[in-house]
Amino acid sequence: MSNEKSRFKQLCQQAQETSYLTSTLALLEWDQQTKLPALADDYRSDQITFLAGEIHKRQTDPRLGDLLDELADSKLAADKSSDTGATIRELKREFDKRSKIPATLVQELAKATSVGQTMWVHARRNNNFGSFSPQLKKIFELKKAEAESLGFEGCPYDALLDEYEPGAKTHEVAAVLDALRSDLVPLVAEIAASGYSPPVEILRRQFPIELQQVFGREASTKIGFDYGRGRLDVTPHPFCTELGPNDCRITTRYDEYFFNSSFFGILHESGHGIYEQGLRSEFYGLPPGKYCSLGIHESQSRLWENLVGRSISFWQYFYPRAQELFPAALQDVPLNDFFQAINHVSPSLIRVEADEATYNLHIIIRFELEQAIINGELDTDDLPMAWNEKYEQYLGIAPSTDAEGVLQDVHWSAGLVGYFSTYSLGNLYASQFFEAARDELGDLDSMFRDGDFVPFKQWLNEKIHRLGQCYSGPELGHRVTGQGLSHQLLLRQLRDKLSPIYGL
Ligand code: ZN
Repeated sequence: MSNEKSRFKQLCQQAQETSYLTSTLALLEWDQQTKLPALADDYRSDQITFLAGEIHKRQTDPRLGDLLDELADSKLAADKSSDTGATIRELKREFDKRSKIPATLVQELAKATSVGQTMWVHARRNNNFGSFSPQLKKIFELKKAEAESLGFEGCPYDALLDEYEPGAKTHEVAAVLDALRSDLVPLVAEIAASGYSPPVEILRRQFPIELQQVFGREASTKIGFDYGRGRLDVTPHPFCTELGPNDCRITTRYDEYFFNSSFFGILHESGHGIYEQGLRSEFYGLPPGKYCSLGIHESQSRLWENLVGRSISFWQYFYPRAQELFPAALQDVPLNDFFQAINHVSPSLIRVEADEATYNLHIIIRFELEQAIINGELDTDDLPMAWNEKYEQYLGIAPSTDAEGVLQDVHWSAGLVGYFSTYSLGNLYASQFFEAARDELGDLDSMFRDGDFVPFKQWLNEKIHRLGQCYSGPELGHRVTGQGLSHQLLLRQLRDKLSPIYGL
């Protein structure tokens, strides 16, 4: 074996061994969210902190740096999108990044966010932003320091965005989200002005939880989530995590008197899960076997939740089964009423409860505000006022308390600055991918009407999942759609669906 090849093998082994630790950590965290007895929390936190430290040591081991430096100029790295090229490129990117942030800053951030999250819980409970604001200011200051350590070409926010969406640039994302906002605000206003409201109360009838479990499981299996390689459990905050190449865990929550909560939650998390299950398992723990970016990950959940799961063709197939399982709630409800109800658009204050159209405005508000703080244009003390003004401006409503305003999300208290925009990027990518699939596969609606989701799922497997991190998000988007990121398709799809409902 050539020297180069044996070095590369060494590199892969190092990364795969690290993934034994990261997947173990993920298992401990999954267990903490789903099964852990209340009094076991302290020891679990110690385990997690210790393991995270060991992982960090391995990831910043100077010997790893030497190996990567040697390989960076080798033939194996020449084609940066090949499996070997992507492995070297991405592991080096990760190593360089981690090595740039001083250990003291890592510790300070860990402490500030741990304290911050506890303070946030209290502040939200007591509706007292003032008690949280100084800590939030500290967190943002540390994030600015992190951006400085990481370095950037354009603005400091670029460095933070790059953590979640490698290769994305603030000015490009901002341009697309600005355009989206200028078209969405009038659309939402038009809908409000139509004066029509679908019969949403049918979704608040009684849906027995055991039957919601049956239905959610059937639908997720049908669209392609493989329960032989995954599980569905119950948690207050739904999520998806992978614990190994054949072990994807998704969670949901059930509300006996609200249909959407579990059903669309399960479709959403299944979309994430189908992505994880579609990665090449032989590359587990290596960049070609890892998800591309958070925006691309979110596109997969939104595709199934909204573009497929809220389409009429999906329900032409599933509605008879829904009526069979929930006769008391749905027997007298025509399909079209149900379809309108699940697509109802109405401005609301809470992001996680927002509908498909207004959701993006919630994200745009957060994206604009966190940039303003990082750029020094906004002080954290003035956040509630700025928050309320933007809600008034974009959604036409303003919260009467900070608990249902600026204090509603955990992200900033956890140091997740630069994260929010990936939710909207997911919606934008989803709309563009869906259109590309339609161009290549033909009449998706007639397939969905027949309950045939296989060709679409396989298309996603082949065009997106199997490529792992061989391409960045923007590159992958381009490769699959032939176009750059744009808001046009998302808007057209929303208008096409909502216009007949609201008579626009
Ligand atoms: Zn998601």
